[in-house]
Amino acid sequence: MTTPRRLESYVCGRWTPGEKDGQTLLDAATGAPVATIDSSGIDFAATLAYGREVAGRKLRAMTFHERAAMLKALGLALMGQKEEFYAESLHTGATRPDGWIDIEGGIGTMLTFASKARRELPNTRVWTDGEVEALSKDSSFSAQHILTPLQGVAVHINAYNFPIWGMLEKIAPTLLAGVPCIVKPASQTAYLTELMVRRIIETGILPEGALQLISGSVGDLLDHVTGQDAVTFTGSAWTGRKLKSHKAIIENSTRFTMEADSLNAAILGPDAVAGTPEFDLFVKEVAREMTTKAGQKCTAIRRVIAPRGQVHALIAALRERLEKTPVGLPGTEGTRMGPLASLDQRVEVRDRIRELQADAEIVAGNPDEVRLSSGDAELGAFMNPVLLYAEKPLSAEKIHEVEAFGPVSTVMPYDVLDEAVHLAQLGKGSLVSSVFTDDPKVAEEMVLGVAPYHGRVLIGNRASAKTSTGHGSPLAPLVHGGPGRAGGGEEMGGMRGVKHYMQRTAVQGAPRLLSAVTGRWIEGAEANQGVHPFRKSLAELRIGDQLVTAARTVTLEDVEHFANFTGDTFYAHMDEAAAKANPFFDDRVAHGYLIASFAAGLFVEPNPGPVLANYGVDHMRFLAPVYFGDTLQVRLTCKEINPRANAEHGEVRWDCRVTNQKGETVAQYDVLTMVAKTWPAVAV
Ligand code: NDP
Repeated sequence: MTTPRRLESYVCGRWTPGEKDGQTLLDAATGAPVATIDSSGIDFAATLAYGREVAGRKLRAMTFHERAAMLKALGLALMGQKEEFYAESLHTGATRPDGWIDIEGGIGTMLTFASKARRELPNTRVWTDGEVEALSKDSSFSAQHILTPLQGVAVHINAYNFPIWGMLEKIAPTLLAGVPCIVKPASQTAYLTELMVRRIIETGILPEGALQLISGSVGDLLDHVTGQDAVTFTGSAWTGRKLKSHKAIIENSTRFTMEADSLNAAILGPDAVAGTPEFDLFVKEVAREMTTKAGQKCTAIRRVIAPRGQVHALIAALRERLEKTPVGLPGTEGTRMGPLASLDQRVEVRDRIRELQADAEIVAGNPDEVRLSSGDAELGAFMNPVLLYAEKPLSAEKIHEVEAFGPVSTVMPYDVLDEAVHLAQLGKGSLVSSVFTDDPKVAEEMVLGVAPYHGRVLIGNRASAKTSTGHGSPLAPLVHGGPGRAGGGEEMGGMRGVKHYMQRTAVQGAPRLLSAVTGRWIEGAEANQGVHPFRKSLAELRIGDQLVTAARTVTLEDVEHFANFTGDTFYAHMDEAAAKANPFFDDRVAHGYLIASFAAGLFVEPNPGPVLANYGVDHMRFLAPVYFGDTLQVRLTCKEINPRANAEHGEVRWDCRVTNQKGETVAQYDVLTMVAKTWPAVAV
């Protein structure tokens, strides 16, 4: 037997062992000691201060793209070392596919955040939120919402079931926001988190202090949180509520995000009778959710809601699958389901099943007897999947309240659609529910009925069977979290998750000054005319560089030529009587796309130069009709510059405003171009 590893915390720039021997953590499958854990002696107030003072400033000095590049480098470095994490993960009871969700799922989530940030956020330190609000008629006073990083630390208190994913899905958006993190993994599986944090620190990719780790209890840390800090929690509702009502969290209005018990449901549509592809998919999904990670997934299906007429066929099909699931040592070939995280957890799950039996009978599996393909049920926390059936779910309580955090689900029948929706709602708020149907009406009714009670709803049917990511997989671009019992929190959701660590502020003032704050040109701010801005490389181009073009008159011939050339002979352009009958027009009008085309003809600089490509337009609006004889003029202003890291070019957003001879804006949009970073200098 090997000597258990003594876990350390990484705080204030040092790997720090606890002062005491601490708790011994056992291998979930063999009962062998894996590690000891203790955090006594740590100065938690100093740990928080170190994060805020040492790392906060460095992270805030970086742009979103720089932070994204940092996460990408880190994700790739960790992926290169994944086998070491898989080996350690076996101690948690995770099979290779279970480990994949945690390890590669976690690293993949970090990489997705990095690439989405690169594509969706500006290369700045300030994130503008929404459009400029003009607060005066003469554009001398405007407002812009901005997002800036909290100047504290995010404390992430995680559950034992995903020691890696749980950390990475939270630190990725936090670091992108520019906020340092302190991670506190659940003790039971903290050795895996500790190993990964060691590898992260060794890469030297993160600024010192950006990630600290507490192995063991967080002591008095929460006493020292401020209104600039954030705390996230995943675990039991009981602990979550206790932490949420901590004095310092309440007094400082510290942001607190909680993800706790969730009685997720899967609903079989009335159309999905035995023999349909949806029925088979449903059976597969329920069995998979019960056995993956031995059911220790916050998103696992706990309640199986099915039409009464299908219940017998459903139970028979599930029983057959579950009984064929080999349970055993997670590293042994052929094992489909490993043990629970600990023997204590098995006692806990058995107790919860007894509570569920107040409302339901066991129809598959025996919680107290273990059939194994390998391993020892005395030493490892093994358990076979247990399926229950509740005949009267509408009047039952426990099945909608008790979360048995293991391979346990309860089947419940419904008679009409409303009843199925109501049963799902009885969970009082869950992370996810799925609806299996091929009927659009059923999909609509069920999703609208359950959505307010859930953070995510998956619709399963034959068309998406091959590509569906499944009921239980939270994805980086989608929100993860649920209302009510599920904790009321929200994580991930792509760039939405980054905002959780930033403050939204409405800034009001003169446009010139607002523009200086946001790094974006806005209406009313100074503009510089001179050399055609398309002659300037990124090295020369400045926000506010502007071109006011010559004017061009739109004629009847132009419109007819455009109509016949493109085939767009819509009546408003071609038929005088029909155009006049239209409530929006007094006469025939020019095509919107003709206006945009003429605008491009007016503003481009045709010679080869630093502008490499036009890759689109944003927010295009045609604001007033253009009649024959109207004269168009364009004002093009450099609005935002995003140099791309590791490339010879960057993106430039131009404010494009097309006016008529009366000075009215007839069209407005953002033109998006790729511009070279350098180009032979232009004589000014
Ligand atoms: P806990 O709520 O006990 O622990 C969750 C996290 O909180 C752990 O990191 C734990 O650390 C920490 N913690 C516990 N007490 C405190 C405290 N006073 N101050 C600060 N941190 C604290 O949950 P478990 O992980 O033990 O799981 C228990 C049950 O929770 C499961 O059986 C399951 O029902 C539910 N659960 C639900 C999940 C979900 O997402 N829906 C996920 C995981 C669990 P430590 O481990 O060191 O005590």
